[in-house]
Amino acid sequence: MRRFFVFDAHCDTALRLTGDKPVDLGKRLADGHVDLPRMAEGGVGAQVFACWVDPDLNVDRWMPDTLEMISAVREQAGKHSDRLAVALSGKEIASVNDSGRIAAVIGIEGGHVLGGSIGKLEEFHRAGVRCLTLTWMNSNEIADSSDGETKWNGLSPAGRETIAAMNRLGIVIDLSHASDRTFFDVIETSDVPVLVSHSSARAICDIPRNINDEMLRALAENGGVACVNFFPAFLDKECHTKVFAIWGRYREERSRLAAEYGGDPKRVDEEIGGAYIEKIKKIPMPGIEAAADHIEHIASVAGVAHTGIGSDFDGIMVVPPGLEDVSKMQALAAVLAGRGWNDVDIASVMGENLLKLFSKVCG
Ligand SMILES: [Zn+2]
Repeated sequence: MRRFFVFDAHCDTALRLTGDKPVDLGKRLADGHVDLPRMAEGGVGAQVFACWVDPDLNVDRWMPDTLEMISAVREQAGKHSDRLAVALSGKEIASVNDSGRIAAVIGIEGGHVLGGSIGKLEEFHRAGVRCLTLTWMNSNEIADSSDGETKWNGLSPAGRETIAAMNRLGIVIDLSHASDRTFFDVIETSDVPVLVSHSSARAICDIPRNINDEMLRALAENGGVACVNFFPAFLDKECHTKVFAIWGRYREERSRLAAEYGGDPKRVDEEIGGAYIEKIKKIPMPGIEAAADHIEHIASVAGVAHTGIGSDFDGIMVVPPGLEDVSKMQALAAVLAGRGWNDVDIASVMGENLLKLFSKVCG
């Protein structure tokens, strides 16, 4: 079978590159989901590395920690320049691929780091950021999140300015984690197509974090791309209920302990995180076929040209059997081929649609 170019719209691997025990992506890692050997095995040609800082951390650490993470991605590209290069546009992604290397696209997940400042957005752009997820699980100064409080009923006035600045600078607007109202506000506001980098289909797994059919139709009209998240809890409702019952207890204990430890959730994660993850791992998980079901649903409602993949690898504590890590990407293409998809459509979904979107927005 043909090997397809893969453009993965979201991973959290950048979080592993800083801190006490930073990993090196050059060799095959015993844990996690993403490293250069496994990316090569999976046929990954482009990968958005999302830089995320915990909104529960002290606000004065958001900016330096994010910049440090961006530097860490660049450092990996410098160290492994034979296999990886940072790309700032669609054109650069293509030329990096032509040289046989993987393109790293730098993203930020969670507009809270901006604090509503266009100056900070410009600084991140200069640092190489080409994709910004407006919200994470919290509502912030620019927009409401699907998991956060209703602060603005969609985009805030500062959020509208941020959208205009992102259009001007050429930064892809990512609406995963956004509330439905934020989603439609941005679709109306943005001059260019938008991205939904790691969300699955609400029609199959009915949770606010996923994207519904009305949104998919609006996205198609906008020219954007919706990328299926592999997190089993976003693929199947029953799995979601079980995972988030445990996760909810974890978040409660975490914020209680973090307050005791002087606002250091990282230390809490180290102490209690593992036990919760072990509990979650015992829940039965939907597999690679479920991920394909979501792709097929999004393609049937929005169209093949508006469908992509955004694994969320290294940000999800459990994975679907058959899609254990980034090395398995071609297996997903094989599932689609087995369902009668032709090569042109598979290529679109596995990466071509995202490449077109980034070319349109970033040049
Ligand atoms: Zn996310």
